[in-house]
Amino acid sequence: MIGLEIHCQLTNLQSKLFCSCKANYREFEINENICPICIGLPGSLPRLNKEAIKKATTIAMALNCTTPEKIAFFRKNYFYPDLPKNFQITQLNIYGDTSVGGHGSVTVGNKKIRITRIQLEEDPGRLVYEGSSSKNMITLVDYNRAGTPLVEIVTEPDFETPKEVRDFLNILSDLLENLEVSDPSLEGAMRADANVSIKGGKKVEIKNIGSFHDLEKAVHFEITRQESLNSRDIPIIQETRHWDDKRKITVSARSKEEEHDYRYFLEGDIPWIKIDTAILEELKSEMPESIISKKERYVSKYNIPAQVADVLSSDKFYSDLFEKAHTEKNAKEIANIITTDLMGLVDTREKREASKLTSTHLRELADSIQSGKISRNSSKNALQEIVKSGKDLSVIISELDLGNVSDASELIAIIQQVISEEPQAIEQTKINPQAINFLVGKVMQKTKGKADPILTLDLLKKQIDSS
Ligand SMILES: [Zn+2]
Repeated sequence: MIGLEIHCQLTNLQSKLFCSCKANYREFEINENICPICIGLPGSLPRLNKEAIKKATTIAMALNCTTPEKIAFFRKNYFYPDLPKNFQITQLNIYGDTSVGGHGSVTVGNKKIRITRIQLEEDPGRLVYEGSSSKNMITLVDYNRAGTPLVEIVTEPDFETPKEVRDFLNILSDLLENLEVSDPSLEGAMRADANVSIKGGKKVEIKNIGSFHDLEKAVHFEITRQESLNSRDIPIIQETRHWDDKRKITVSARSKEEEHDYRYFLEGDIPWIKIDTAILEELKSEMPESIISKKERYVSKYNIPAQVADVLSSDKFYSDLFEKAHTEKNAKEIANIITTDLMGLVDTREKREASKLTSTHLRELADSIQSGKISRNSSKNALQEIVKSGKDLSVIISELDLGNVSDASELIAIIQQVISEEPQAIEQTKINPQAINFLVGKVMQKTKGKADPILTLDLLKKQIDSS
């Protein structure tokens, strides 16, 4: 049985959860994005960020959760250097359901993963380790992140394999990006803990893994470790373990603390907050189209193949580009350019940001392919150049000489040349009509892929027949 706790930063918010410091702490010099509230100076009081509640509630609704009438905040007490107040303000369901959402579900393949609870809480600061060995280790603290808004999503232990875990995380990450609440590609924006237990054993928690790939590996390792202990009749103890990503193993960190060790109590500086039905209605009406309905629309309206629609709809960057660029007529062509060529060209966050491609470029490129101005083959080179330079398509076509050879007389001359050079192949076509494709290939070679293949085939047949 595997359960997950996923921490997701609400990276699209302006300010921290309880003060007006910036939520985007990544832009600052160390310890520059702080104020008396987020570093817990005596006498400072939290002021709750309304937008954070809205975003967290939107996530809850998208994960099919119920939302309570009133939400409450609690203090989770513990000492850690990155937690200057010595408590974290978080949510818990001690007095009924008072966290932003609960009792939801996400479908992964044909399985339903239940969502226990969604809670809004503050992120602690960051510890930075310096020094080469444990003896010389220096630990520095950067409080820029302290107090930034975090949503914790807790699942029931419904996963049975590491692959299910990874599929779920991919779906969740796409969903959060589509809701415009978080950018999961930012370092540290999504972290997860996993609880793993095998039949008859105690629950082991693996803490704070930043990459989905590593989480899948850690879960896999943990199952194997526990099964091995079990087969040798060694008891599995309840504990917290860390993932050592260099050695690719989990290592014991501490015996697992119980919830009551945290001495939770109501945060007295923040009142209970009533969630108006008017706000819920507003959030519902503003909710972007879901990935699933987007996919269905692409298939039914534009006849885009399901697999292509799946890839396109699940990535917000590409689906936004598609939405802006497409027309009724070129939708399929644009989907094709994005999924077969563009995705390979801008496959990292840095490359996406550096790309000069606009939706207008994409529309013109698709239209030019459809009107026969440029071949599909040459369009790949044009796309590469657009991404790099951002020049107009017409300029690129003339600079790189990518325009189609659509002038029939020019093409006939090339075809006649091929016919004279390939007498054997001509004979072949009389026995096997498929052999003509070899000759089309030769024409393509001579025109550097710029001949229109349909026109070429047509002219070739006529020329062979009359020769
Ligand atoms: Zn602050």
